[in-house]
Amino acid sequence: MTFQQPSLDTSPKVSDEVRKTTCYMCACRCGINVHMKDGKVAYIEGNRDHPVNKGVLCAKGSAGIMQVNAPSRLRTPLKRVGPRGSGEFEEISWDEALQIAADWLEPIRRDNPEKLAFFTGRDQSQSFTSFWAQNYGTPNYAAHGGFCSVNMAAAGIYTMGGAFWEFGQPDWDRTQLFMLFGVAEDHDSNPIKMGIGKVKANGGRVIGVNPIRTGYNAVADDWVGITPGTDGLFILALVHELLRAGKVDFDYLARYTNAPVLLDAETGLFLRDDNDKPLVIDRNTGDLAPFDKPGIRPDLRGTSGPHRAVFYQLIERYLSPDYAPEAVAERCGIPAPRIGAIAAELARVAFDQAFTLPIEWTDFRGETHPTMTGRPVSFHAMRGISAHANGFQTCRALHMLQILLGTVEVPGGFRFKPPYPKPVEAHPTPHCHAKPDCPLDGPHLGFPRGPEGLALKDDGSPARIDKAFTWENPMSAHGLMHMVISNAHAGDPYKIDTLFLYMANMAWNSSMNTKAVTEMLTDTDDDGNYVIPRIIYSDAYSSEMVAFADLILPDTTYLERHDCISLLDRPICEAEAAADAIRWPVIEPDRDVRGFQTVLIQLANKLKLPGFTTDDGTARYADYADYITNHERKPGIGPLAGWRTAPEGSGVGGSPARGAATGRGSPNPDQIDTYIENGGFFIHHIPEAAQFYKPWNSAYQNWAVDLGLYDTPQPYLFQLYSEPMRHFQRAAEGHGDRQPPAHLRDRVRTHMDPLPYWYESNAREGEFTITALTQRPMAMYHSWGTQNAWLRQIHGRNPLYIPQKLWDTHGFAEGDWARVSSPHGSITVPVALHGGLNDNTVWTWNAIGKRKGAWALSDDAPEATKGFLLNHLIGELLPPKGDGLRWSNSDPITGQAAWFDLKVKIEKTAPPADAETKPGFDPQHSPVGKGPQDLAWKVGK
Ligand code: SF4
Repeated sequence: MTFQQPSLDTSPKVSDEVRKTTCYMCACRCGINVHMKDGKVAYIEGNRDHPVNKGVLCAKGSAGIMQVNAPSRLRTPLKRVGPRGSGEFEEISWDEALQIAADWLEPIRRDNPEKLAFFTGRDQSQSFTSFWAQNYGTPNYAAHGGFCSVNMAAAGIYTMGGAFWEFGQPDWDRTQLFMLFGVAEDHDSNPIKMGIGKVKANGGRVIGVNPIRTGYNAVADDWVGITPGTDGLFILALVHELLRAGKVDFDYLARYTNAPVLLDAETGLFLRDDNDKPLVIDRNTGDLAPFDKPGIRPDLRGTSGPHRAVFYQLIERYLSPDYAPEAVAERCGIPAPRIGAIAAELARVAFDQAFTLPIEWTDFRGETHPTMTGRPVSFHAMRGISAHANGFQTCRALHMLQILLGTVEVPGGFRFKPPYPKPVEAHPTPHCHAKPDCPLDGPHLGFPRGPEGLALKDDGSPARIDKAFTWENPMSAHGLMHMVISNAHAGDPYKIDTLFLYMANMAWNSSMNTKAVTEMLTDTDDDGNYVIPRIIYSDAYSSEMVAFADLILPDTTYLERHDCISLLDRPICEAEAAADAIRWPVIEPDRDVRGFQTVLIQLANKLKLPGFTTDDGTARYADYADYITNHERKPGIGPLAGWRTAPEGSGVGGSPARGAATGRGSPNPDQIDTYIENGGFFIHHIPEAAQFYKPWNSAYQNWAVDLGLYDTPQPYLFQLYSEPMRHFQRAAEGHGDRQPPAHLRDRVRTHMDPLPYWYESNAREGEFTITALTQRPMAMYHSWGTQNAWLRQIHGRNPLYIPQKLWDTHGFAEGDWARVSSPHGSITVPVALHGGLNDNTVWTWNAIGKRKGAWALSDDAPEATKGFLLNHLIGELLPPKGDGLRWSNSDPITGQAAWFDLKVKIEKTAPPADAETKPGFDPQHSPVGKGPQDLAWKVGK
């Protein structure tokens, strides 16, 4: 018997055209193929040729189609007409919006540029926004690193000239043991998923250290459910065990680190020669020698009179019984035998599974090595271990661990991505001297080498509104965005006039305490004027922050704009190649919006900012695409490294050859078009002999100079002992012209320890004994996903996850609710049991909860009724200590927000009568209205 089969088109036409650009649904910057049908986006897939994702696309990436069609998109510039926070706006033209902004910004620049605070959130154009702020002249600029993961970045730069994520990656093809600590799943999403797949396919193992077993930890071979905030203690116990067993790479330490550098017995600074080079003892001669002298063999056991090598201090500290597994086990929540077993496993894989590659290379001392030694152990970590008030020293400890194993920049280990490695000396120091009508005296952010690098005024007061680079947080390399609003509100260290924010939802999940911050944004003085007089905000979406601004400059979505993922900034490099990428308008906006970077250029042109204005007073750049093409940071070096113009004589008839130069070259007017023709990215491979040992490999150093990453070769030693920290510590001991104030002297002396150490940052506060954490879901990127019609079906609400022990103690059952309290407030939320969780930790997904009225969601949307934030329990400031001072809830070295030090109390409670999470907030008026009940359309026939 036969059936009548329906006639189906099993291979419908997907698209008329494919446009290749860069995803921006999270920070990974994968390559995407955007399929177009009738001029509209029909489908998004991964770009198989792209170095980051090699065709892999995640749920977020494919849902980009709903992001560019989201009802929450802002549609036109807005001027506030109701009270701040109400969300009542009047639609205005771009001419009027730009004129209002220029009328506010021009007098500030003329009189006192520090009255402008310009901070950006998930900005991927920081080399541009910082250039704008520098030319404006305000010292008050930073992006969001201060409340994200600056501890990881800064500890990496100060210790080894780079860190994880965009700074480097494991040698995924060869690593056999991959250990990751506290990683958010959305931030290095596709590359880590692909990497873990490779490790497992190659027979390797994955160890996940995280209080919460989800995501990468759920697929780890071993899960270590550590007590939050004790990662540093656990790592130093591993160091203790490795040193005790003699399982460290002595040859690597002697050659490539400052372990053999001699410390002056009196000052604790390096002994140096007349050329300021640190000195070691040469094992060949027994004599003092500069560390980089050709032919020497630095001695780890070197001494000269009372002066001893760094290695002595290291041994003495970490062999202390204080770091023995038995001494730390209870605090870490990891049994001592398990700590010992993990140390043994690290040693076994690093040394017993060592291998060599037959690749000859020459080091910076001129010695040629016939092979490269592989140690197939690699690590990765991010915000989980860094967002504590002991995060910087913890991150330093982790970098020290991988260096002791000799597994950085070797086959099978962790490797840097260009433009890293870069020694701290190759980075700028902070600049902060603002003068009326002048650009700033240099880049805002940088890496101080000692007290002289602090951003202080002549009277010793903070030069920056966020108090970055002060004695409170001397090495705050990314600024302290989380302190801007509370400091501006308090007028501490001074009052500002205009707060200018981009892509930073400070009135909701991007502030530590949402309620307190919104009160500061709406607070008025005795005359009825807002305490923060003016707020300008740019975003693509109607986020909670929009209602609190006076002027809204609506941004485009990522498929409607030019962008540049630049080697000057955070490029898309791999360990074997330099690479950068663009975004370009694959669709034109259907609203009256403009890319924020172009708006900044239009404002710069109105204000005639130097750097944006030619000598004859005309505008240097018409828009951001023009800037990307023609800007030169220094002669021959621009935002994009690919397809630059070669010198005179290189082309036909002696003309300069367009597109023929890589890295160094003059601007090429066809550059963006060439990127588009080549899939939206540029890649330049590192020669094989230069792919490992990069900080010390002459072939890599020369390659980097040719490409324009350095001006001269910059070989350097890994800094197990941090001399810049010792400079700060000495100031606290009473040395030098710049010394900390009396109330910070002990704190600076203790925390600026030049060798990593652990201290309790997450102590119980009275009845608040349980650690409460947030995680970002893999399917969403911060708050962006919750307005995305596809992604909100994955996470539309968020319970508080509770471990079995606390679940039983409190007698919770499915469907129950809890009141969760901290010294800063309380929330009432639904609970759920999670078996894979540290016994004394609760957690929830970050930024699922939304305020009614925001993001074009209906008032009864699950995000607004069943979702919630932990932010109501956290404070920008620590509870008062009775000394009259405002103490920031931050790491004392970098100022990183200590999100994960939150301690709470939980109590079972009846569900609220309206079954909605508490606290509730009054609905905001939505400037974009509400989204339709059903969102449906068909592209093409
Ligand atoms: S990992 Fe991030 S950048 Fe890559 S496809 Fe997913 S959302 Fe896009």
